[in-house]
Amino acid sequence: MKNIILIAAPGAGKGTLAKSLKEKYGYVHISTGDLLRDAVNKGDELGLKVKDILAQGLLVEDEIVYQILKNRLQEADCQNGIILDGFPRNVNQAVKYEEILSDINIDLGVAILLDIDEKLLIQRITGRRICSKCGEIYNIYNPTITPKVENVCDKCGSALYQRSDDNEEALKSRYATYVEKTQPLIDYYQKKNNLYVVDSSKDADYTLEQVEKILRDLGDQVD
Ligand code: AMP
Repeated sequence: MKNIILIAAPGAGKGTLAKSLKEKYGYVHISTGDLLRDAVNKGDELGLKVKDILAQGLLVEDEIVYQILKNRLQEADCQNGIILDGFPRNVNQAVKYEEILSDINIDLGVAILLDIDEKLLIQRITGRRICSKCGEIYNIYNPTITPKVENVCDKCGSALYQRSDDNEEALKSRYATYVEKTQPLIDYYQKKNNLYVVDSSKDADYTLEQVEKILRDLGDQVD
């Protein structure tokens, strides 16, 4: 399978798409946000260092992110298709990513942009609830993905949680960072002829279908 870099504003549906691709095709989903949140939850040295930065929706220092990402990419499961979610966040990171990949012999793959209007993001972000155990994603403002019992996962019965940065205030800063730092990546990958655009303003199935079509057209075995 082609490796995938997902580019999208917060709330555009990266996590949901990555989860579907993982379940259907065995992709490994690597989210730098999740790796950082794991460190915060563990309360180790790295976690203490980045906790406040995450809560404010600001970007963590590049060198820290490179290190955790490189460690993760060197694990054995990364040879058969990875989806990178939340990285690169700026052009510097994109350049460094290619260096990291060539060090460890992994292909760049394709960049997929999840395109969505800014106005749709607030409800997606403030309504998002995530299962603390299986990672299933819900939204209390979207009847098709509201949990049947409030704050309980339909799939595994565990408690749901809300990310500390899933509020309007942090979204403002996360979105501004996206426009300023991450959007230039669109140009960067376009110039490499490596950018594919998907409309993610509708439901998750539609987003997935469009990505499957791209992968199929590129020669991957996707049904
Ligand atoms: P995410 O889950 O991708 O929305 O990331 C949550 C938070 O983790 C971000 O707001 C940043 O504070 C931090 N983070 C995740 N990925 C990166 C990255 N590539 N560079 C810098 N900070 C990051």
